[in-house]
Amino acid sequence: MQGKSKQVNDGSYRLLPTWMHQAAIFAAALFVSILTSFLGTGDPAERFFGQIRDGLNSKPASGEIYLVEIDARSLKSLDKWPWPRSYHAQLVDRLNEAGVEQIVFDIDFSSRSTDAEDAAFAEALARAQGKVVLPTFRQPSSSGDQNAASENLPIEILREQAFLGSVNVHPGRSGQVNTYPFGAVTGGVPRPSIGALLAQANGGVNSVFELDHSIEISTIPAYSFVDIVEGRFDAASFQGKRVIVGATAIEMGDRYATARFGIVPGVLLQALAAETLMAGTALAHMGPWPMLFLAITLIAIFCRFQGRESWPKGAATVLLVLMIFMISLFAERYRYAHLDLAPAFLFIAVWIAGQYLMGFLRRLNRERYFDTATGHPNLAAWLRQKGTGKPAYVVVAEVANFGEILSILGEDDSARFVGAVADRCKFICGDVELYRIGRNQFCWKMDSESPQALENQIEAAGRVFNSPLHVGGRSVRATLCFGLVEGPFSDPLGLSSKAVLAAQRASRTGVRSLWHNESLADDTTQSLFIVSEFANALESGEVSVVYQPKFSIASGRVTGAEALVRWNSPAIGPISPAVFVPVLERENLIEPLTLFVLRRVIASLEEWHIAGRTLGCAVNISAPLLGRDTFVETALEIVRSGRANGSLLTFELTETAVVTSPDITAASIGRFAELGIHLSIDDFGTGQSTLSYLKDFSASEIKIDQSFIRLIASSNANRIMVRSTIEMAHALGITVVAEGVEDEITFNMLEEFGCDMIQGWHIGRPLTGEAFFESWVRRKTDSPENKADTAAA
Ligand code: C2E
Ligand code: CA
Ligand code: CA
Repeated sequence: MQGKSKQVNDGSYRLLPTWMHQAAIFAAALFVSILTSFLGTGDPAERFFGQIRDGLNSKPASGEIYLVEIDARSLKSLDKWPWPRSYHAQLVDRLNEAGVEQIVFDIDFSSRSTDAEDAAFAEALARAQGKVVLPTFRQPSSSGDQNAASENLPIEILREQAFLGSVNVHPGRSGQVNTYPFGAVTGGVPRPSIGALLAQANGGVNSVFELDHSIEISTIPAYSFVDIVEGRFDAASFQGKRVIVGATAIEMGDRYATARFGIVPGVLLQALAAETLMAGTALAHMGPWPMLFLAITLIAIFCRFQGRESWPKGAATVLLVLMIFMISLFAERYRYAHLDLAPAFLFIAVWIAGQYLMGFLRRLNRERYFDTATGHPNLAAWLRQKGTGKPAYVVVAEVANFGEILSILGEDDSARFVGAVADRCKFICGDVELYRIGRNQFCWKMDSESPQALENQIEAAGRVFNSPLHVGGRSVRATLCFGLVEGPFSDPLGLSSKAVLAAQRASRTGVRSLWHNESLADDTTQSLFIVSEFANALESGEVSVVYQPKFSIASGRVTGAEALVRWNSPAIGPISPAVFVPVLERENLIEPLTLFVLRRVIASLEEWHIAGRTLGCAVNISAPLLGRDTFVETALEIVRSGRANGSLLTFELTETAVVTSPDITAASIGRFAELGIHLSIDDFGTGQSTLSYLKDFSASEIKIDQSFIRLIASSNANRIMVRSTIEMAHALGITVVAEGVEDEITFNMLEEFGCDMIQGWHIGRPLTGEAFFESWVRRKTDSPENKADTAAA
C-alpha cells in the first residue's frame, strides 16, 4: 500500500547516530587524558592519590636502620658547629663498641679541620675496619654540564679509611623528592648512593627508584648525637644495626620537600631510601597507560551491560573509580608497581561529562523536534527538512472527530489515542518518516506513480481506520480525512499548509480525501473574513432581515412570510447567506445570528398585528442549535417576552441537517411546540427523511425543495415526485409548501396537485421590512396577480 520510498531521515533535526557521538566523546576523553599526562598537569592530583595510597598502605620502618641525629639538643650541648672531628671519632668508637654493622655519615667532610682532629677521626675510622661510609656529592660546574660536574670527596686522610657513597638527591618537577638514585656517575666515576649502601642493594648507577612514602619515617629509631657520644644509650640494642648519622636541626639546612611528610631533613630521605630498598618496595613506575587502558576497558564493559542510554549511572561510576583506585593501592601494597591514576580518572571524567552533555543535547533536541505523545517528529522537524525541489506528494491525515474523542477520553487516554492513530498512519506511510504537525494532524511525503494511484492508495489506507482503536479499555473509532497536495518539495511549510487545508475541507464536507486547489484557498480567505467580521457586522447594522411572502392557495391570500438574512458588507459588497451561513454554522457562530433574526421577526409580527394584519413568519434554524441549552432558553425567552402569539412562528429546519442527538432535539422542539411554534422541514426531498422522521419531530409542514419545483413543468419524474410527496404529507396531516415558484405554469400545476402554500418570485421576492409592510400588510394585496415584484432585496 505504501510507495516504495527510499527516503530516510533527510531532516537536519536528527542528531548524529549515538555511536558517532560516543566515538567523538571517546576520542576527546583519550586526547585530554594523554595530553595531561604529557604536560604533567595531572601531577598534583597524582600526588594526592599517592598520599591516600601511602596513608592506607602505611607501615613501620624495618627497625634495622638507626638514625643518629645532629639535632638542636646536640648542637646546644656540644660546641658550635662545625664540631671538632674528634666528636665523630668518639661516635664511631661508641657505635663500633656497641657492635653496629655499618655507620653511614651524611655529613660533609670535604674540607680540612685541624690536623689533630682529622687524624683522630681517621684513627677511629681505621678502628671501625671498613664499617664506615662517608658521603660524596656532586658539585655542579658553573656551566651546568653534568659531565663537567666535579665530585666533592671527603679529605684524603679520611677517605682512605672508609667506603664512599653519594648523597645527591634530585627534586622532581614538583620540587619534591619522590625518587632516589641507586648511585651517581660523576666525572666518569660511578659511586653507589648511601641509601643503596645502607640497604646493601644493587642497581644500575644511573637508575632511580621511587621512595616508598608508605613507610612511616617517624618509626625509624632516632638518637641524639650527644646521647651516643656521652654513652646515654642502650648499646645492646645497637648490636648488628646499621646507623646513619646526619643533621636534623633546622639551622643545619639540608632539607627537602616530600609528597607525604612535608619538609624533611636530607638524612631522613637517605634513610627512607634505604628502608624502601630493604622493604622491597622500590617498585617500577609504570606510568599512566595500564590504568588508562583498564579504565577504557571497564567503561566498555559497563556500557555493554548497562546499555548506552542508561550510562552513566552514579553508582557504576563510583564503583569504577573505586575499582581502579584499589588496583593501584594493591599494586603498591603487594610490591607490584606504581601506577598513575590521573589520566585514567580524567578519561572517566571527560567520558561522563560527554555522556551528560550528549544526553542533554539529545533531550533538548527531543523536546524541540519530537512529539512526546507519539515519539514522532513534530511540525518544527517537518519545517527543518531541506527542500529538494523534486516533485513530491504530501499527505496530511486529520482526525475529523478529534474534539469529540477528546471529550470522552481523559488526558492520558487521549495521548494513547493519538499514539494509536500514529501507529496506524505509520502502517500507511511505511518506512517514510511520519510527522505529527498538529493536535489532530499527521503529515508525510509519499511516492506514487500518479495522483490517481495516490488517491487509490489513500482510499484503501483509510479503511485501515474502519476498525476501532482500543484505548484505555474503550473502543473508539477515529474518522480520518486526508488532504493531498502535489508539487516540488522546496517549501515544506507551503506544501503541508495546503494539504492541511484540503484535509480540513475534506473533514468538513465528510469526504475521505481531497486534493488541494486554489479555490480552496480562496474559500478559506473568505471564511476567514466571515469569521472575523461577522460579529462586528451584526452590531454595526450591516446585517438585516428581509421577508418573502408565503401564499396560501386555499385562502387565496398571503398568510405569512419567511425571514431571510442579508449581509451587505461595505468592504466587499453583499454576501449571500448561502455562503456565510454555512461558514458560521461550521465555526459555531450561528447562534447570535439566529437570535438576531428571531428578535426582528417577533417585532415584525407585532407590528403587522397592530396594523390589523395577522401574518405568520418562518425563521430558519440550524439544527445543531436545538441541542444547545443557551440557544433554546434564550429563544424561548424572546418569544415569551414578545406580545406576538407563538403560533404565528414557524421554525424551518433543513432536512439534510445531521441531527446529532435526536432525543435532545426532539425535547427542544417539544418545548417550542408548547408555545405554539410550528416545525417545518426545509429543502424537503434533498435528504433521506422518512415519514417517521417527520413524525418523530412532529413537523407540521414540509417545504419541497426548489430543485424539484423548478423542473415540474419539464420533467415528468419531478411531477410524480412532487405529486406523491403532497399526497403522502396530506395523509399524515402535514401542510406542503412549494419553494421557488417563478412562473404561472408552475403555480397552476401545484394548485392542481393540491399543494397548500406557494413561495417564490411568482408571489413575491424577499423584501426589506418596510417594503414588505408596504406591499403585503398595508395594501393588503393578496392575489399573485397583484404581487409586488418590484423591489427585490
Ligand atoms: P432557504 O431557506 O431555502 O431560503 C430560500 C432561498 O430561496 C432564499 O435564498 C430565497 O431568496 C430564495 N428564493 C425564494 N424564492 C425564489 C425563487 O422563486 N427563485 C429562486 N431562484 N430563488 C428563490 P437566500 O435568501 O439567498 O437564502 C439562502 C439560504 O440561506 C436559505 O435557503 C437558508 O437556508 C439560509 N438562510 C437565510 N437566512 C437564514 C437565517 O436567518 N438563518 C439560517 N440558519 N439560515 C438562513
Ligand atoms: Ca428556509
Ligand atoms: Ca429551502
